[in-house]
Amino acid sequence: MYDVTVIGAGVVGALIARRLAAYDLRICIVDKENDVARGATAANSAIVHAGFDAKEGSMKARMNVRGSRMMEQVCAELGVSYKRNGSLVVAFEHERAEVEAIYRRGVQNGVEGLRIVEKEELFEMEPNLNPELSCALYAPTGAIVCPYGLTIAAVGNAMDNGAELVLNFEVVSIEKTAEGYTLTAADGRAVETRYLINSAGVYSDEIAKMLGDESFSVHPRRGEYMLLDKECGQTTTCTIFHTPTKMGKGVLVSPTVHGNLIVGPTATDMEDKTDTATTTEGFADIRAKAGDNVAGIPYGKVITSFCGLRSVGSTGDFIIKAENNAVLLGGIESPGLSSSPAIAEYVEELLRGMGLVLTPKADYNPNRAPMDAFRHMSVAEKNEMIQKDSRYGRIICRCEEVTEGEMVAAIHANPPAYDVDAVKRRTRGGMGRCQGGFCSPEVIRILAREWGVSYDAITKNGGGSYINKGRTKVAGGNKEGN
Ligand SMILES: Cc1cc2nc3c(=O)[nH]c(=O)nc-3n(C[C@H](O)[C@H](O)[C@H](O)COP(=O)(O)OP(=O)(O)OC[C@H]3O[C@@H](n4cnc5c(N)ncnc54)[C@H](O)[C@@H]3O)c2cc1C
Repeated sequence: MYDVTVIGAGVVGALIARRLAAYDLRICIVDKENDVARGATAANSAIVHAGFDAKEGSMKARMNVRGSRMMEQVCAELGVSYKRNGSLVVAFEHERAEVEAIYRRGVQNGVEGLRIVEKEELFEMEPNLNPELSCALYAPTGAIVCPYGLTIAAVGNAMDNGAELVLNFEVVSIEKTAEGYTLTAADGRAVETRYLINSAGVYSDEIAKMLGDESFSVHPRRGEYMLLDKECGQTTTCTIFHTPTKMGKGVLVSPTVHGNLIVGPTATDMEDKTDTATTTEGFADIRAKAGDNVAGIPYGKVITSFCGLRSVGSTGDFIIKAENNAVLLGGIESPGLSSSPAIAEYVEELLRGMGLVLTPKADYNPNRAPMDAFRHMSVAEKNEMIQKDSRYGRIICRCEEVTEGEMVAAIHANPPAYDVDAVKRRTRGGMGRCQGGFCSPEVIRILAREWGVSYDAITKNGGGSYINKGRTKVAGGNKEGN
């Protein structure tokens, strides 16, 4: 019997589990996927919002501002990429009143350092903006982060401190028992727990229904993106938004913590909670709207596109409820990433309020070594590392310069990596200009060797996503046929 079970290994569930791992508790994290960070957490804008968007007094506003203040330290402890690059909400002259309204809301929400910048200063800050723009709201506390890196590190740190991760566990029913809950998975496995956290993202309403709570619903809103080559990462320094619409914060242009340029997202209400297709119409919409913000974005340098589903809740605000030894989280759409450390802190308080005894763990370690440490070493340090382990001298991903040593370390660290995309999310191997065109066969070979399985058994991202059907021929006398 676990003390606490978290359903959902997205950024919110991960940070809750990591926070609770500081206490003497048996913690379990279950997720229906074969890796962590596969839901909205894998596909979003990656912005740590300053906190001026959400309505004054809302849970979103409270969690966002607090989360944004906590994020830098959380990332430092977990060795995760984070950069306080600031954000600008740009406007044409006829939109000035909206910028002033957002400024006032931000001040009400408690966001520090907000100010309106006029044209001259704006173009000194960001020379590549659309020349027609007139002013902007500047938020120096706006930041960028790696959302899946944060989630992997948080789950890893929770596991290093004793939490257990159960993957491919799709909760299909929940039974209330005398001591807590029994969760049953699609394949019949069961997990017993005293306390339960529903952090299932776009499916959180369905989990709530299993608990007898039909008070809210969640629908998916699709957001498509284009990601540009690192060559374009200097196009802007800040994250550039336009004044928001009722569908969200609109299309942004931003550098990423990895040095790329991200442009998007669209906002399309959907019914299907699995439809993450990108579309030609979506790209046209992004290009039209991004052009209002930044001039001459070089779309010939797009290296990939992707799509995420926002969890739009029926109340318009984050839904965070504690009842019957369970915490239900619904509608955790943007700014859910920014808010995640604060949501975790609040959930801890709710659990305490429901009688969970939280005794600090004597040997709790909040820190985790960064996964990309090798890349940031000096040449002398790299050479020393290669002397100790020659696999660090072998580059597998040429675009991102990721070595075999880093991949092997990532495969076996908590949480382990079993497929090609899992290695990619941990090491950036395959995330560069060629998008894995050259290195994927090598990554498959390394995964097969490390897990002692056949080359054909390795998938792209679990389930039936097999990459190799079988051997066609033995090339050049290579007896392994690899
Ligand atoms: C297009 C887009 C842009 C965004 N931009 C930003 C941004 O810039 N800044 C920001 O702060 N926020 C942003 N967000 C919001 C942010 O991404 C989310 O709020 C956050 O990722 C939610 O995390 P989560 O853990 O709640 O959900 P998820 O990451 O969706 O995780 C839920 C997990 O639950 C699992 N699960 C679901 N059902 C079951 C089940 N039955 N059994 C077991 N497991 C289950 C899923 O597999 C998944 O792993 C954006 C979101 C989108 C889609």
